[in-house]
Amino acid sequence: MMNYPQPLEDLIDQFMKYPGIGRKTAERYALFTVNRLNAESAEQFAAALVAASTKITRCSVCGHLTEADPCAICANPIRDQGIILVVESPKDVFTIEKSGNYHGLFHVLHGNLSPLNGIGPEELNLKSLWTRVQNESVKEIIIATSATQEGEATAMYIKRILKGTDLLVTRIAYGVPVGANLEYTDDITLNRAIQNRREF
Ligand SMILES: [Zn+2]
Repeated sequence: MMNYPQPLEDLIDQFMKYPGIGRKTAERYALFTVNRLNAESAEQFAAALVAASTKITRCSVCGHLTEADPCAICANPIRDQGIILVVESPKDVFTIEKSGNYHGLFHVLHGNLSPLNGIGPEELNLKSLWTRVQNESVKEIIIATSATQEGEATAMYIKRILKGTDLLVTRIAYGVPVGANLEYTDDITLNRAIQNRREF
């Protein structure tokens, strides 16, 4: 059996660390790198990889990805300090910010509860949410996890924990089929979903 030269094998191994990338795709990427990228663009790629993984951290307040801690949203006094929108991933924050109609704060969970995959409350960014809701200026928590089984379970969990506080807990209205998540929702639907949120 003829193997690829070692540096190429090493590169294939690195690509295979990404979700959804199997051996075949990794081989294709590695061969592309060797055949089509010149040394300069390969160096730019490597530098971007290192910069992203070293300069980006999680905001200590909301968990969003940021270069500065706290992030620009948490540090902005003009944002409505009374509302916290709870989302699954940093991607949701970017989607909602792009729509430009939400002016409150965020809280990023970095996932959903998924006992079968070993993801319990401890694995999510929940502790700092409890710290934040102690702050008197917070009046409402909008839960915007996906309309999937795991997203619903996460929403129920948060609601249960917040029981007994005088916070208004709402859930965004998905005008889209069950199983949808924010990523595939257009701006208008998204704004409507936030506006039409319901107490739950
Ligand atoms: Zn933040």
